[in-house]
Amino acid sequence: MSEERTQADLVAFAESRGGRLLTETYGGWGEPHRWVCGREHEFRASPRLLIDGGYWCPECLPTVDDASGWDWDFHAEVDPMLARFHMGRRSSS
Ligand SMILES: [Zn+2]
Repeated sequence: MSEERTQADLVAFAESRGGRLLTETYGGWGEPHRWVCGREHEFRASPRLLIDGGYWCPECLPTVDDASGWDWDFHAEVDPMLARFHMGRRSSS
């Protein structure tokens, strides 16, 4: 299944997170690609880590130690996926 991924899939994924794919050629599911998040942080990560693993920008994502500093509103402004999740959390409470 993973072998069927294309450059277009990665571009669409990046856009769904409010960012962009900087790598111009799909290099493989487990190979590092360059990305930029909606806050203009550049980072390298494999499609597998981001899409299967659910990770995104390492500068924006909270760590376990820093969970209290996670600013949902700030990140949801630029990340459509987080915005949907954020609204879902808000409306269910
Ligand atoms: Zn970021």
